[in-house]
Amino acid sequence: MIDRTIATRAHPSRTPCLTAVLRMAGLRPTRQRVALAELLFGGPHRHVSAEQLHGEASMANVNVSLATIYNTLHQFHEAGLLREVAIDAARSYFDTDTSDHHHFFVEDEQRMIDIPADAVEFRSLPRAPEGMEVSHVDVVIRVRRAPR
Ligand SMILES: [Zn+2]
Repeated sequence: MIDRTIATRAHPSRTPCLTAVLRMAGLRPTRQRVALAELLFGGPHRHVSAEQLHGEASMANVNVSLATIYNTLHQFHEAGLLREVAIDAARSYFDTDTSDHHHFFVEDEQRMIDIPADAVEFRSLPRAPEGMEVSHVDVVIRVRRAPR
């Protein structure tokens, strides 16, 4: 279990902390990984797509290709630092909050809003297939602006 407060605490130089977080997650703290970790974990919890992070990286003069961003996001996800929320086959968002919760997806703004885990209740869930267990349940409720 990684202490997330290390990564999210506001501090003038977070780099040593993020380096430690990456090491604890089993990832070599390369310059690119540390720079992307700073963008991801340097503030409050957030949801970000690879394209958004790529845009933020170029704004921050971090020179990385979109392919590298994808690889890094997936490595962070596999290491348990990020949660992936798939919107459709072509689109995923990465959530810095890895705890159990659900999401609204605002279709016309391409934005995710958190829903607390206990705000969604299931009357019944199908039993997991033979020899399997449910690892978690993700609910994405798609919303759009209501006409006035
Ligand atoms: Zn979330």
